[in-house]
Amino acid sequence: MDCIFCKIAHKEIPSHVIYEDDDAIGILDIHPRTPGHTLVLPKFHAASIDDVPPEKMGDLFGAVKSVVILLKEKLSPDGFSIGINHGEAAGQEVPHLHIHIMPRWRDDGGGCIQSIAEYKKESVEEIKKKIIS
Ligand code: AMP
Ligand code: ZN
Repeated sequence: MDCIFCKIAHKEIPSHVIYEDDDAIGILDIHPRTPGHTLVLPKFHAASIDDVPPEKMGDLFGAVKSVVILLKEKLSPDGFSIGINHGEAAGQEVPHLHIHIMPRWRDDGGGCIQSIAEYKKESVEEIKKKIIS
């Protein structure tokens, strides 16, 4: 399969690796939005969390936690934004699951994760009915 992140995970093409375990790798984003902007990717191909076996999810988020601890220790940020662009409509460009970890500083000028979309249609009650019925 011609997947750039599979190739990165298997060291077939170079990247700035800052973390690695049996199932995941942490690389610096080539276009960082904040200093230390890291992507955690599974070494196995999965387009999104839909394709990750449930028993592997815990390990993947263990890798996210390890990267957060590492970046906290080395860069001393004030906080982190951590998220996944899941699907093209949500801004996913590389179709191999990756979790963005962005160290944040109080004065970095960025917003919170909720600020990426605005929504004023159905009420929370209406949406809840759709979801749980
Ligand atoms: P997304 O929109 O979540 O699919 O984001 C893809 C991210 O991957 C972007 O932030 C890119 O800057 C980053 N990216 C793409 N190619 C590479 C690469 N070869 N090495 C590191 N990061 C990359
Ligand atoms: Zn892949």
